[in-house]
Amino acid sequence: MESCCLPIELCEAVMDALLDYYEPLGRSSGLLESKRTWESQQALCACSLTCRAWRVRAQYLLWTLPHILDSRHLAQFTSAIHKLPEISITGLVLGDQRAYAIKSFDPSTASSLFMHSFHHLQHLLCYGFLFYRGPPLRMLRMRLPFFASITVLQLLDCTFQSARAMLDVVWACPSLATLAISRSTIKSKRSSAAGLLPMSAAVEHLRACRKLTSLYVDAFSLLAIWDRALSVGLRGGGRVFGCAVTTLIFKTDNITGAWNAGVQLCRVTQFLHSLDPTVLDSILWDSFPALRSVTVVSHVDPVFQKSSNRVLSLLHVIALSRPIPGVLKTIILEGKHDLENNSCCKDAVGTSEEVVGSEKRLRELLVGLAELVIRLDECKQPAAHKCAAYIWSVLPWMHDIPFFRTYRIDLSDLSDLSVSGW
Ligand SMILES: [Zn+2]
Repeated sequence: MESCCLPIELCEAVMDALLDYYEPLGRSSGLLESKRTWESQQALCACSLTCRAWRVRAQYLLWTLPHILDSRHLAQFTSAIHKLPEISITGLVLGDQRAYAIKSFDPSTASSLFMHSFHHLQHLLCYGFLFYRGPPLRMLRMRLPFFASITVLQLLDCTFQSARAMLDVVWACPSLATLAISRSTIKSKRSSAAGLLPMSAAVEHLRACRKLTSLYVDAFSLLAIWDRALSVGLRGGGRVFGCAVTTLIFKTDNITGAWNAGVQLCRVTQFLHSLDPTVLDSILWDSFPALRSVTVVSHVDPVFQKSSNRVLSLLHVIALSRPIPGVLKTIILEGKHDLENNSCCKDAVGTSEEVVGSEKRLRELLVGLAELVIRLDECKQPAAHKCAAYIWSVLPWMHDIPFFRTYRIDLSDLSDLSVSGW
């Protein structure tokens, strides 16, 4: 291009906007989405080749958040960073949601990358990373400078050798403030409820997760991490993430979305079990003493959502799990409400303020609660009135909560919600 008729400031502002991918799920969470980072990188590459005037800004932005798709990219990247020691990378995306990228990324080649130090690196997203193939665990336990400044870690569709191996990646980041684990699984199925104790002790001993305040985790990953331990009644799994967590977002995934994202058939049964509130109980029970806000997001297709005869609802599980009354201030329950006989509502809030397994009523267990929001996804009128009326009728105490509301939303315009990971 010979010349551009637009002022360079305007062109640079357009290029800056290409880095605007911090918006998954419509939340101000600061999480990345690998599809967006890859598309932005492609666009910025094109910008850098357009003209000299654009190159400086485009290259600066490219080095701000590089997206390394496969082993070939990684080799090019590691060779380039040795020639450019002053680059200021703030984020890094490894892997991609496309299946071919997962297959062509050999994680053992990432060792040389993890030995490098990026002083400004804050955000690491690993997508489809097969950690059991490398790098070696002893390397992750070496407190490498690579992980020292990372504040946001996302592990999406990753596979680890064991639960401890997954935690070694998490614990390698001493500055971690936000952690997202989604659709990740464990190769070795030997984790037991007894294994929780040494891991809870290890997080204390290593002084890990001291700054971890925001945790995003899905039921699918929890089922994989704890595996058989859940069937023998594992509780307190959240302790491995330290005591500082104030915000927990727990998600049961959409089986169709997971299918589209390439999840294997044999893993589908895990989704069916992920609907059970005991999975939420396994991580919440007697964990997260500083928890102030919990959000449960359920994107489950109705065909897989069995009519409830469960003992505990999500709200009762949350209420029973709190080790210190009065700390929890906000509960948000988002889920589909389209079942007969209000069983959708019963799954969410139960049938009364009496709580099975406790002498205390809901109002005593949740003393100090300031906000309760129940989102009725895809709930048609007048069913929405019926659901809202049922919730109000079984929770009369909720009238005393400063902020209590139910509202409905049509997700058909937001289909991306169900397929995007964290
Ligand atoms: Zn309902």
